[in-house]
Amino acid sequence: MSYVNEVIDRVIAENPNEPEFHQAVVEVLHSIEPVIAPDEEKYRRDALLERLVNPERQIKFRVPWIDDNGNVHVNTGYRVQFNSAIGPYKGGLRLHPSVNLGIIKFLGFEQIFKNSLTGLPIGGGKGGSDFDPKGKSDREIMSFCQNFMSELYKYIGADTDVPAGDIGVGGREIGFMFGEYKKLRGLFAGVLTGKGLQFGGSLARTEATGYGLLYITEEMLNHRGDSVKGKTIVVSGAGNVAIYAIEKAQQLGGKPVTCSDSTGWVYDPDGIDVAALKEIKEVKRARLTEYVKYRPNSEYHEGRGVWNVKCDVALPCATQNELGLEDAKALVKNGVKAVAEGANMPSTPEAIAYFTENGVFFLPAKAANAGGVATSALEMSQNSERLRWTFDEVDDKLRYIMGHIYRKIDKAAEKYGLPGNYVAGANIAGFEKVMTAMIAQGIV
Ligand code: NDP
Repeated sequence: MSYVNEVIDRVIAENPNEPEFHQAVVEVLHSIEPVIAPDEEKYRRDALLERLVNPERQIKFRVPWIDDNGNVHVNTGYRVQFNSAIGPYKGGLRLHPSVNLGIIKFLGFEQIFKNSLTGLPIGGGKGGSDFDPKGKSDREIMSFCQNFMSELYKYIGADTDVPAGDIGVGGREIGFMFGEYKKLRGLFAGVLTGKGLQFGGSLARTEATGYGLLYITEEMLNHRGDSVKGKTIVVSGAGNVAIYAIEKAQQLGGKPVTCSDSTGWVYDPDGIDVAALKEIKEVKRARLTEYVKYRPNSEYHEGRGVWNVKCDVALPCATQNELGLEDAKALVKNGVKAVAEGANMPSTPEAIAYFTENGVFFLPAKAANAGGVATSALEMSQNSERLRWTFDEVDDKLRYIMGHIYRKIDKAAEKYGLPGNYVAGANIAGFEKVMTAMIAQGIV
């Protein structure tokens, strides 16, 4: 049995009930087999892959918090510090009832390679809690965030581990957590990214993941003699990534016609009204049912359905495994040309295989949504030098980084005889840098 398959079997046996983590490990390890195979015995002796798939540290803690009626609730908090070979752990915090250790491990594992692809010195980590922020008051959110940080602060720091936002964690939550960290440590430090602009946040961080997704999509289409201009685009999600993906797609001349949340989805034949979407989601924190009040020509549908809308480009921006084989078949039947992942691991392995077999250009999350973490690293740089860059400076760097990632993954795919296979290209290019750093630092 090959070394890669041995390690995959062991991960599945030793981490039961963590299907998302298995899915991520299987994809990455199979992709990097061409890198491992020529020197398999050496890597096996050094347990390189075992060290890669086992987090350096995983922290699990109790988070008690008090609701507005004085009742006490208890949730579970996690921080997985996966790999620090190329820099301090870096990765978001997710607040969603579906969060468990397996989800955080899958996200942390993916983060290692994504962060490597940015070309910036950041290692991989992820965290969060099964707390559900939906329907909670600002006071309840604050109570949760403060109690979450009152344990997490022991393990993070500007040079050790720098968390950021993810699903359910935006500027409001980062603000409450930062305030608590500062109080407990007596330190005004760049320990979280995604901070408010008044206290160390970076311009363009809010927009970065969505904008970056469109920059890399544009780069790929340009490389193929095409562009976003004039394309009909289908987007899922209506959160941070989806909103700014829609905004940049419009700026590049594309027409995004859908968005969704966990209860339903919107089809707007005239193109999504971003101002309305921002007001509904960022200001009112309301459901998408509101959208039709702003745009009488649009349609609201309960449940799932965006992947059945005819489009040239599809951008899944909600959550993991939200685009399965049947969705991929519907997209291909309707003539989709390109799929780029704004969310983490939104497409199932069967869907990705179907896209590949049918000549659809597919940009995987660890390349396509790396703009968020890249800009977080730019926020860390600004905090370290106690300076603030303009929106355009940050945006220019983001655009450069996304272009560079595209060229890197394209080249890696070519080098290993898999031209156009960006899944393999991203996994290989991300892994090679981490592997080199791990080997250089010895068995630690
Ligand atoms: P938000 O919380 O801002 O938005 C998430 C969106 O997805 C909401 O519209 C939400 O709907 C929907 N959603 C979440 N879970 C589900 C579910 N189980 N089923 C259906 N819809 C769901 O999160 P972000 O936009 O920040 O994150 C979206 C994705 O992008 C995640 O996979 C995240 O890991 C990834 N990502 C985010 C980055 C960032 O900078 N924010 C960086 C890189 C990746 P509802 O409100 O109804 O729950």
